[in-house]
Amino acid sequence: MNRFKAKSVVITGGASGIGAASARRFHAEGAAVVIADLNDELGTALANELGERALFQKTNVAEYDQVEVLMGTAVEAFGRLDVLFNNAGIGCFGLTPDLSVEDWRRVIAIDLDAVFFGCKAAIPYMRAVGGGAIVNTASISGSGADYAFTAYNAAKGGVINYTRALAIDHARENIRVNAISPGPISTAIIAQAKSVPAADQAWCDVVPMGRWGEPEEIAAIAAFLASDDASYMTGSIVTADGGLTAHTGQPN
Ligand code: NAD
Repeated sequence: MNRFKAKSVVITGGASGIGAASARRFHAEGAAVVIADLNDELGTALANELGERALFQKTNVAEYDQVEVLMGTAVEAFGRLDVLFNNAGIGCFGLTPDLSVEDWRRVIAIDLDAVFFGCKAAIPYMRAVGGGAIVNTASISGSGADYAFTAYNAAKGGVINYTRALAIDHARENIRVNAISPGPISTAIIAQAKSVPAADQAWCDVVPMGRWGEPEEIAAIAAFLASDDASYMTGSIVTADGGLTAHTGQPN
């Protein structure tokens, strides 16, 4: 498939996990790819691996001026901007009385503010080419809650309804906006939980499919949502969680 031939895609959090798998997927389908991340080492290595029509732009997505530079760089390098995958994210554990104001703000800044920043900076370029597609990485933790994970739950909940709101605002401009809500995916963000055998097994026990998802399985959804195959989809939140949130919790 060559669904993104002559198109240009910006992927935040593109150096690792879901973002890196997506960079490989979009590039394999013909896109010019801009990998945006804080991690220079991984980002540069991935851009080198992809070769032509790929570049790494070091970006802190929580800083609006850096996000503006990112979108400008994509257009300067590849002539246009068609797809934005707002995917960078972090988590932070802590019960509210113990969570510092700085940690709360950091999570909201990276997981929610940055999605607005990306869209604000990218939409004018999409309008200039007659449309575009935005995909946001939300989480099943944006519609349900986890123990001691309030900032993340709040931020991802915000991403879900911001996605719907933005989809409505730009539906008549041929700019589609959708989100993906992954369940547990095997990436660095939860490698710590996965490295503890008991925790690993506990996750596998609660996921009806009995396993973690792979980043490539989310990348495939991102590519679908950004492609013309999803041409009548906007404001949709696509869950990919091995059946976790479909389950009542009743034991088998
Ligand atoms: P990951 O840690 O492998 O990737 C996240 C990337 O975001 C990293 O490369 C990191 O450097 C980058 N990043 C963090 N802060 C940044 C900042 N301020 N500016 C730019 N880049 C920054 O983890 P992942 O699982 O691939 O996470 C991708 C997205 O998926 C996140 O939004 C995460 O919340 C979401 N998600 C993950 C899971 C899961 O189980 N892995 C589940 C649901 C949602």
